Amino acid sequence: MKFNTALLHGNYSSDEKTGATGIPIYQSTAFRHNTAEELENIFKGNAPGFVYSRINNPTVDSFERRIAFLEGGIAAVACASGMAAISLAVMNIVQSGEELVSGSGIFGGTYSLFDDLRAFGITPRYVKDNSIESYAREINEKTRLIFVETIGNPKLDVQDLRSLAELAHAKGIPLVVDNTVTTPYLVKPVKLGADIVVHSTSKYINGGGNSIGGVIIDSGKFKWDFDKYPALKDFKKFGGFAYLAKLRNGLFRNLGSCIAPFNAYLNSIGLETLGLRMERLCDNALKLAESLNENKHVLAVNYPGLKNHEDHELAKEQFNNRFGAILTIRVGSKERAFKVINHLRYASNLANIGDVRTLVIHPASTIYLNNSMEERERAGVYDDLIRISVGLEDIEDLEEDFQRAVEEK
Ligand SMILES: *Cc1c(COP(=O)(O)O)cnc(C)c1O
Repeated sequence: MKFNTALLHGNYSSDEKTGATGIPIYQSTAFRHNTAEELENIFKGNAPGFVYSRINNPTVDSFERRIAFLEGGIAAVACASGMAAISLAVMNIVQSGEELVSGSGIFGGTYSLFDDLRAFGITPRYVKDNSIESYAREINEKTRLIFVETIGNPKLDVQDLRSLAELAHAKGIPLVVDNTVTTPYLVKPVKLGADIVVHSTSKYINGGGNSIGGVIIDSGKFKWDFDKYPALKDFKKFGGFAYLAKLRNGLFRNLGSCIAPFNAYLNSIGLETLGLRMERLCDNALKLAESLNENKHVLAVNYPGLKNHEDHELAKEQFNNRFGAILTIRVGSKERAFKVINHLRYASNLANIGDVRTLVIHPASTIYLNNSMEERERAGVYDDLIRISVGLEDIEDLEEDFQRAVEEK
C-alpha cells in the first residue's frame, strides 16, 4: 500500500454500527459493560474494551491505529499535546539518577522540558555536534535513551537516523525520534531503526492549525533489558507492547494526558490529506528558499533542500529528495527582521508551524525569549533570524510577498 492510499485505508474502518464514513466522535466520559466480569477482564488487560476516556476512547483509538500504521509501529498512544507525548515517552523509562542524550538543536519547548526533568533527578546531556562520535561520547551506564528531531526546529540540522539507531542499539538503549517536522511522508524513522517515534500532531498531521495533540508510536522491536529498565518488568507479559502497556496503565493515565475525542477526530481528518499537503508544502518551500537565496537583501537562507546546506546530501538520501516546509532567513538585524514580518501580507506572525497558511515568527524575541545567548546559539537562533513555515498558497504570491517585504526600506 503506497502512502496516500495508506492515509485513507491503513488501519481504517468506518463505523460498524451505522456505516458512517467519517469516524464518529465518541463524546462520552465512560463506557458501560454488561457484566462485572467483563469490566474486570478489561481492567486486568485480559480483554480489549473501553473504560474511561482518560485511559482510552474509540475516536482516539481509531486515530492511534491509523498513525501507528503510517509510521510502521505496532501501536500508539495519543496525548493531549506534543509536549505531553515527549514528556511521557521519556519519563516512561527514565528514572531519577538516570540520563538521556539529546541532539542540541531541538525545539525550545523540549529543551525547556528536559531542564524541568532535572528536578526529578533526570539529567539531559547535549551533544556538541551531530557526529556519531559526539553522541557516543555522551553515553554512559546511566544513559537510558537517545532523543533527536529528524530536522531540528528551528536549527534545521538533519540527524543521521540509521547511524544513531545502530549506536543506540550497540549501547543497549532505544532511539526516540521526534518526527513532527518531517512527518512519515518524508521519513519513517522505524524503518531506519528508531524504536519510539513521537509527534506534535498539532502541526502537519492536523494540518489546519485547529487543535493541539501529540502521539507516541512504538516500533515494538526494542529488546528491553529489565535490569536496566526495571519499571517495565511488570509488563513483560505484553511482549513487544510492554513499553506502551506500561505507559497507558501508568504515567499516561495517572498524569491525565489524554487527548479529547474531538481533537483526535480533527487530527484524523487532517491526516487524510497529509500526503497532498506535504507534497505541495515541500515544493513551495524549496522554491521560496531558492528565490530568497538569490535576493541580495537576505543575508542567509537556511533550508536543507539548498545545495549549500551542511546536511543537504544526508537529507536528500534520508528524506527521499524532500526537505520539509520550514526555512529560516537572516536579514541583518532584529529591526530589519521585525520590519520584514510587519510588511508581509500573506504570512501570519504567530507561534506555530505546519498550517495550511504560511506562518512566520521571530524566534529570538518569542519562543527563545527566556533562553541564554548560548542556548539560542546552540538552537541556531539569531537576533536577525525569521522562521518561515511555508503554506499552500500559490508560490507566485508567496515569492512576491517575501521579495517585497525584504526589500522594504
Ligand atoms: C510544536 C512542537 C512540539 C510541541 O508540540 P505541542 O503540540 O505544541 O505541545 C514538539 N516538537 C516539535 C518539533 C514541535 O515543532
